[in-house]
Amino acid sequence: MAKKFDVTINKAWCKGCGLCIAICPKKVLELDSKAKCEPVRMDDCIGCRQCENICPDMAITVKERVENA
Ligand code: SF4
Ligand code: SF4
Repeated sequence: MAKKFDVTINKAWCKGCGLCIAICPKKVLELDSKAKCEPVRMDDCIGCRQCENICPDMAITVKERVENA
């Protein structure tokens, strides 16, 4: 079964720079109405962590989702 990932945004730290949105190869992230990053296609995330690495404010955490068997 394909691995799934959870992408968590600390919206208090996000400044809406859009770097994570630009780098995500799966277009998982978008800005919400308050110009904060929001995962909108979480199930498409491949866990590459490019968003986590590029965020200047350390606002993103990517974790593998643990499914119940
Ligand atoms: S881990 Fe990769 S695929 Fe997932 S949201 Fe971040 S950049 Fe996109
Ligand atoms: S890179 Fe970080 S600060 Fe910039 S929009 Fe994404 S989560 Fe927000």
